[in-house]
Amino acid sequence: MMLDLRTIYVVSAMTCVVLGSVHLAAHWTGRFGRWPAWWGISNLLIGIGCLAVSLRDFVPSSISLDAGNVVTIAGYVLTFFSVRVFAGRPVDKRRCALVIACISLPVLFFTVDPDTVSARILYVSVVCCLCDLAILRESVAIRRREKLFSAALLAWLYVPTAALFVVRSLLAASGQIDGPGAFGDNPAHGWMAATAVVFLALRSVVIVLMAAERSRNELIDLAHRDPLTGALNRSGLAQHWPFKRSQSPALLAIDIDNFKQLNDQHGHVVGDDILRLFARVTQAVLRPGDLLSRQGGDEFLAVLAGLTDAEAVHAAEAIRLAFSAAVAQVSGLAVLPTLSIGVATSGETCPDFELLLRRADEALYASKRRGRNRVETSLGREQAA
Ligand code: GH3
Ligand code: MG
Repeated sequence: MMLDLRTIYVVSAMTCVVLGSVHLAAHWTGRFGRWPAWWGISNLLIGIGCLAVSLRDFVPSSISLDAGNVVTIAGYVLTFFSVRVFAGRPVDKRRCALVIACISLPVLFFTVDPDTVSARILYVSVVCCLCDLAILRESVAIRRREKLFSAALLAWLYVPTAALFVVRSLLAASGQIDGPGAFGDNPAHGWMAATAVVFLALRSVVIVLMAAERSRNELIDLAHRDPLTGALNRSGLAQHWPFKRSQSPALLAIDIDNFKQLNDQHGHVVGDDILRLFARVTQAVLRPGDLLSRQGGDEFLAVLAGLTDAEAVHAAEAIRLAFSAAVAQVSGLAVLPTLSIGVATSGETCPDFELLLRRADEALYASKRRGRNRVETSLGREQAA
C-alpha cells in the first residue's frame, strides 16, 4: 500500500512542533533542569525542517529542500546533544553548534542539483543512523550508571530507527529511492517515514519517563541518607539490610569519643566538620558494597559483608587508626576525638539484625568502659589501642 509521504511529513512536523513546545514550556517552569530546553529545540528544528520539506513544489526549493534538510539534520544531531545534557555530561555550546553546522550544511551540496535526490537521502540516512547509534550508546551508559529502567527503553527505541535508516541508505544507494519527482514513488519510503514518526513521538514520552524515574530515585536516596555526612540513615540501612543478610555480615557499632566536649570547646560547626571527616575517612576504608549508616548524633553503624571475626576486627582497627590520623591533620583542635568500636559477627548467613546490633552495642559499651579509643568484639576479645 502506498502512503502519502507529504501527509506523513506534515504529521511529523506537527507532532515535533507540539512536543518541542511542551518540552520548552516545561523548561521555562525552571523545575526540570536544562535538558528539556535542548530536547525541545531539537524537536522544534526537526518539526520546522519536516514542514519545509512537506512544502516542496509549493515554495522555492531553497526553502523546502535546502533549508528544510539542513534544519532537520541540525535538529536530529541536536537530539544527541540533548541526551548528553540529560546524562549530565559537559556540552560546550559553541562546539555543539560547530558540529551541527559541519554535519548539516553539507546537505546543501546534494540539493543544488535536483537529480541528486538519492545521494541526499543517502547522506541524510547515514547521518541519522549514526546519530541513533550514538544516542543508543549514551542511553545504555545512563542505564548502567543510574540504573534507570526507562533508559533501556530509550535505547531500544533507537534500534528500529537505526535499522530503518540502514535500509533507507541501502535503498537510496541502489537508486530505489530517487528521482526529481516530489517524494518519489517507493511504498517502502512511505512506510519507513510513518514508522519514524511513531518513534519520534515515543522518544519524547520516554525521556520524560526517564526524568521521572531519575527524580524518584533521587528522592528515595534523599530519604535514605543523612544530609550532613552522606551516610545512610536508619531507614536507608533497613532498606539495604536484606541484601547484606545473605552474606554473613559483620556489624561495627562506632561512636566518636568525647564528641560533646569537642562541640562545647570548638562549637557545632567544627563538630559537624568532624562528623563529615569521619564519614569520608570510613567510606575510604570500607569496600564498595559495604554500608555506613548514621544512627544519630555521633553514633554510626558499618555493615561489612562476608568477613571472619579477625577480618572484621582488622577492618574496625583500620577505621579507628585512619580516623585518628585524619583528626591529627586538623589544625587547632584542643580536643582530639577518637573512636570506640564494637564488632559483632554472626558467622552465619541471614542473621537477625536486632540480635547482631545488640551484641555490637554491648561490645561498644565495653570499649567505652575500658577507656575508649579501642575495638572490642562481642565475644569479649579485647583489642588494645
Ligand atoms: P562518649 O565519649 O561517651 O561517646 O561521649 P561524647 O562526648 O561523645 O558524648 P555523646 O556521645 O553522649 O554525645 C554526643 C554529642 O553529639 C551530643 C550532641 O550535642 C552532639 N551532636 C549530636 N548530633 C550532632 C550534630 O549533628 N552535629 C554536632 N556538631 N553535634 C551533634
Ligand atoms: Mg560519643
